[in-house]
Amino acid sequence: MRLFKKTADIQRFLTDQAVENVGFVPTMGALHQGHLDLIRKSREQCAYTVASIFVNPTQFNNPADLEKYPRTIGADIRALEASSTDLLFLPEVSEIYPAGYRSPHYELGSLESLFEGAFRPGHFQGVCQVVDRLFEIVRPNRVFFGQKDYQQCMVIAKLLTARPAFHSIQMQIIPTRREADGLAMSSRNLRLSPAERQQAPAIYQTLQWIKTEIRPGNLLPLMEAAEQQLRSRGFRPEYISMADAQTLEPVNLWDGQQPLVALVAAFLGEIRLIDNLVL
Ligand code: AMP
Repeated sequence: MRLFKKTADIQRFLTDQAVENVGFVPTMGALHQGHLDLIRKSREQCAYTVASIFVNPTQFNNPADLEKYPRTIGADIRALEASSTDLLFLPEVSEIYPAGYRSPHYELGSLESLFEGAFRPGHFQGVCQVVDRLFEIVRPNRVFFGQKDYQQCMVIAKLLTARPAFHSIQMQIIPTRREADGLAMSSRNLRLSPAERQQAPAIYQTLQWIKTEIRPGNLLPLMEAAEQQLRSRGFRPEYISMADAQTLEPVNLWDGQQPLVALVAAFLGEIRLIDNLVL
């Protein structure tokens, strides 16, 4: 596996080699099987697979979360090598945001005020900044994102539509990889205490409970019961909601036909976990 830290170097290399059919998997590291699923999909579909590891400061609305974000670079490099990744881009902040960088404002419509957008102000602007820069640098043909970050996938789709230079990029959304007990894999799981780790699968159990209990009509009592269930199992929920699976507009009255996604964000101790389930 090649490793580049400098933007100019990776760009020169990709141009010189004239690599075609490039698959790209952007990550923030502390890699787990969910990330490696994305790499595997890229390897299946593309001639050349590029991964990046960059803990993007501009998408953290909470400075403590940024400071404590798990960093396991040695193990990450070994995992990427074992997965036959062709190239790893591992930039410093100054490579992504060089002196004089000025961020555009990204028009995200209601995605910016709903759910993650509401609870993490500025988060999706930061996501767009880093993805915009990384796509500009890597110039991939296909990009791979995880359904675990459902709303983020919609934001990236919007970015791809908004930027003419990105119109030829195809995006693939890969299903959420879970632990045997149902907990969605996440780098932040590394920060759970043993007791919290035991409690954490309740988030997925609650989503599954919603899926079995949901009936057409008013969904508010079900959402309130689900929220109560999470609280009783030690979580501090920020939201637990049903939304249109295509637009993410909240749905409180369901006709039994509209495709829905249940979305949840909840704190366990100081760790914020998110998950979702298409119903
Ligand atoms: P992150 O390193 O958390 O920024 O994630 C990098 C990419 O991996 C994003 O596209 C995530 O949606 C995806 N991802 C994270 N966790 C999972 C998971 N459990 N299953 C599948 N994809 C995931």
